[in-house]
Amino acid sequence: MAAIPDFCGVKDIIGTDLGRATELLRTGEVVAIPTETVYGLAANAFDEAAVLKIFQAKQRPAFDPLIVHVHSLEQVEAVVSFSDLERMGMRKEAEALMEKFWPGPLTLVLPKADRVPDLVTSGLDTVAVRMPAHPMALELLRALDFPLAAPSANPFGYVSPTTSQHVADQLGDKIPYILDGGPCTVGVESTIIGWERDAEQWVLYRPGGTPISDIEAVIGTVGQARKTIIPASPGTLESHYAPRKPVFIGDVRSLLKEHFGKRIAVISFTQNHEAWRTVVLSRNGNIAEAARHLFAALRSLDSSEADVILADIFPQEGLGAAINDRLRRASAKRN
Ligand code: AMP
Ligand code: MG
Repeated sequence: MAAIPDFCGVKDIIGTDLGRATELLRTGEVVAIPTETVYGLAANAFDEAAVLKIFQAKQRPAFDPLIVHVHSLEQVEAVVSFSDLERMGMRKEAEALMEKFWPGPLTLVLPKADRVPDLVTSGLDTVAVRMPAHPMALELLRALDFPLAAPSANPFGYVSPTTSQHVADQLGDKIPYILDGGPCTVGVESTIIGWERDAEQWVLYRPGGTPISDIEAVIGTVGQARKTIIPASPGTLESHYAPRKPVFIGDVRSLLKEHFGKRIAVISFTQNHEAWRTVVLSRNGNIAEAARHLFAALRSLDSSEADVILADIFPQEGLGAAINDRLRRASAKRN
């Protein structure tokens, strides 16, 4: 593998200069970009050498495919094989989902067009695609004549970034530029669904920013992806999105008793707890607000003096399913 270029010492790594971002992307560099879900680390999806830089900067294993970001329904045709979709009889439903949820936090896993390099899809014959609902991301995409492959802009396995500073904290010395679009308004990654040929149904690979009930209102029941040894969708790895400190989820009152004597930090939905520190994600019980603040809370407690992080189980409705999924995986033991 080629060495990662050293961008240390370059000032103003964070900025709002769309021209600079476009120039870097056109010359095969990576740029961190804002989206409504989390910050992404983007490169030209059609340029394998550029995409390789994403994997290097993130230390991401090559078996973990990327999401391709597009600005229009026309651009999807460069990425997805519509003839295959047609053959599978899925074109109508896929288009209905795009019409209804894009731009927005829904990623569709669909048959890939030949032009998409294997590195983007980890050799799969499907590609994950979405249209982000962030004005700056869309403006950037429109200025380019290629789509952007972009996973979350964090080291592999760690908590995703929801501000430009989060990106700078961890990847600042590995990438040339971070486009600042303010704090992410959704705050958890996109929901990922795909059509499974064997099961002949749509399945959920990852709960996220689009509630599953909204999706089912358009295409009917969405099944659960089967668990395999090599995950069909690596974002579903048990331990992922994980801070370095131990995280426990459950009934915080009983967890507090179990961990008595330790320096305890708590992530709570609405209420304060008698702990060393409590971060309340939404005082008035707004689940979308809680999702927006989740990753910043995990990051700040991870870099605090706490011994352990305890977290509530959130109501499963709306974005609650995504919050619980991320907390559960933040608490899973790493091998
Ligand atoms: P990230 O952008 O870091 O949130 O990760 C993207 C995630 O999308 C991956 O970890 C996978 O779980 C999922 N994904 C991407 N491409 C595919 C695909 N072709 N099939 C199934 N899942 C995919
Ligand atoms: Mg990620």
